[in-house]
Amino acid sequence: MKKTLFSLLLILTTLAAQAEIRYVFYLIGDGMGCNQVLTTGMYQAELQGRIGLNALQMQRLPYTGLTTTYSFTNGITDSAAAGTALATGNKTRNGMLGMTPDTAAVYSVATQLHQQGWPVGILTTVPIDDATPAAFYAHVPNRHNYYDIGTDLARSGFEFFGGAGFRTPVNKSGWNSPNLYDLCEQNGYTIAHGYADAQTKLQAERLLMVQEHDGVDREKGAEALPYAIDRREGDLTLEQLTETAIRYLAPKGRFFLMIEGGMIDWAGHSRDGATNVQETLDFDRSVRLAYQFYEQHPDETLIVITADHETGGLALGNKDYTLNLQLLQHQHMSAWKLNNRLKQLREDKQLTWDNVQTLLRENFGLYDQVEVTKQEDKELRKAFRLLASGNGRERYILYNRNSSKLGTAAVALVNRKAKLGWTTYAHSGAPVPVFAAGPGAECFVGFYDNTDIMPRILHLIATQP
Ligand SMILES: [Zn+2]
Repeated sequence: MKKTLFSLLLILTTLAAQAEIRYVFYLIGDGMGCNQVLTTGMYQAELQGRIGLNALQMQRLPYTGLTTTYSFTNGITDSAAAGTALATGNKTRNGMLGMTPDTAAVYSVATQLHQQGWPVGILTTVPIDDATPAAFYAHVPNRHNYYDIGTDLARSGFEFFGGAGFRTPVNKSGWNSPNLYDLCEQNGYTIAHGYADAQTKLQAERLLMVQEHDGVDREKGAEALPYAIDRREGDLTLEQLTETAIRYLAPKGRFFLMIEGGMIDWAGHSRDGATNVQETLDFDRSVRLAYQFYEQHPDETLIVITADHETGGLALGNKDYTLNLQLLQHQHMSAWKLNNRLKQLREDKQLTWDNVQTLLRENFGLYDQVEVTKQEDKELRKAFRLLASGNGRERYILYNRNSSKLGTAAVALVNRKAKLGWTTYAHSGAPVPVFAAGPGAECFVGFYDNTDIMPRILHLIATQP
């Protein structure tokens, strides 16, 4: 056994030694467990009228593994502890970023490579100071210390940041502290507002690429990029961020690029299957760009794709031996947007059952493509009356601040009919997938812990000739 293991290591090291890794793509689907990926692939097959898998790009990578995700303090991790594990290879307490449990700073693969002269890019669909991206550059005991996280970003020296802007660009508790956008400029960052603007600034020494409206009013906190399912013409996308980052970084001859699909998690917190699937598909579009780059530079490009944890406890099947995932195609807006619409209707004094039913017909297929039984109709009307009377607020759902019992009931109905099951509004302890390609990518096969990924990436780079 020992001998086999030794020869395996020897082969791996030799294989890695034959190539020089110059380009690293580290893609993280936040909340993207095995079932999120599988549901998306099986949904795609159902759309073609068949049962099976229409594999995503990530599922087509040559090597697959699984990891555990628990944190130092909890069987179920949050994104800060998981991000720290993926970025630095250390377990820490839920809520902590870039630190060990006793608050000693630990440094990410991005920071370590940057110190060796590697250009670094960090991309996300959510605010750039959110836990997953922050784990790559920040060191704070609490993930909600957004101003401190932003300060660490400005001082990181990383070449490219892309996503939504800062949540809290102004330090509300600190006297005379600089605005974070100003601080970035003082540290050599050019700020690009939207896709077109970024293309004219690719020669900048350092680039912070945000949505068109982010940072224009420098006092205003940023919202995430719109969900793929809610996207409108002109909205910034993760795919555009990825494309731009590659265009910016590739001429530098090597790079480390972290790409986060941050809102797979947000849809999971709302138990919103259709939005979850569309976010996973959207994340996979960035995987495709990474893979195209790999095809052009196969001996020099390493791709590692994983998730920080699973969100929602998503299950395929909730009753019998059927799935009806294709029903999700009739949903055209996220649960988040539905709840906002319902709130708007109420504020405009337009919250009638007719208006609500039309909203549910047009955007969720309910009553038309998705059958609603008498009992289910009764429940929806009851939730409607509660909302109309001012008592229909839902318990707090993360990233869905206007959530209502009616919105939850409508989305739950679509999910139930598609035969998806959800066990929690939070994260679960389910293992998450790892997909890999490139020199030495064999070492990502197996069942291991999320803290093992980062050292393996560094090891592969260090064993180059
Ligand atoms: Zn989450």
